[in-house]
Amino acid sequence: MANSIETALYVVASPIGNLDDITFRAVDVLKKVDVIASEDTRNTSVLLDKYSIKTKLVSYHKFNEVSKIEFFLDYLKNNKPVALVSDAGTPLISDPGNILVEAILKEGFRVIPIPGACAVTTLLSAVDRKDEDFKFIGFLPKSSNQIQEIIQKNNFENLVFYESPNRLLKTLEIIKEISPDKKISVARELTKKFEEIKTLKAEEIIEYYKKNTLKGEIAVLLHKNEQKNEIDIDEKIKKLKALNLKDKEIASIVSVLYDVNKNIVYKKCLQN
Ligand code: SAM
Repeated sequence: MANSIETALYVVASPIGNLDDITFRAVDVLKKVDVIASEDTRNTSVLLDKYSIKTKLVSYHKFNEVSKIEFFLDYLKNNKPVALVSDAGTPLISDPGNILVEAILKEGFRVIPIPGACAVTTLLSAVDRKDEDFKFIGFLPKSSNQIQEIIQKNNFENLVFYESPNRLLKTLEIIKEISPDKKISVARELTKKFEEIKTLKAEEIIEYYKKNTLKGEIAVLLHKNEQKNEIDIDEKIKKLKALNLKDKEIASIVSVLYDVNKNIVYKKCLQN
């Protein structure tokens, strides 16, 4: 089929809820490529129907992403452009695609991004945050200890992550323990009918969701805490140990002075 676009892999962002959130360029590219690699063909079909896009869809997800590489490479080798879309939002942002992009770049083809919706940037564009910088970590790990460590380590960063409604309250309990005054923005169902963005402290959000519906898709921003001083906790522990203080005393002193969790300091004391 004759195509008026360059032979390349087009990584196309699709809507994260509201089907109107797609660019003219994305629709044009999806019409012109020879095949669309889609994480969820049923979902993508709804989008294609809305925009009268007739292009062939082929399933491409985390369980076949290696075995399908040759299939899509063959298209490019035969001068046929390919598009990649994920279930929602931008591919490769907590979504499959990295393995395909890697393989296609290695073969010397271009990978062309077609930007659009992404839950991270959608959330960040609608909340007031201190400073420009932020860190995005995808989904949090499952273990409470690991979550605790991540929250503590990033206390002075604007930290963005994806969360499920089933786990949100547990995560908020952990944050409440570590940093009760931290400002938190919870964005639920962005771009959809029941869109809701709440910026409150952990305890207040827990209370709110005890009384209100907590379902749908969620992205979270933990606002950075005011940095009192650049402190090296290990260094402080070492100095206090040299004064022959007990680990428990050191943990109390450091946690009060530097606003860090007492248990975490205590664990560090044991390791030191
Ligand atoms: N690639 C997507 C993107 O660009 O945002 C993210 C894919 S990740 C597998 C899906 C997670 O993103 C959801 O579980 C939720 O945490 C977050 N998310 C996706 N859509 C959302 C929405 N409309 N509102 C809030 N969070 C959303």
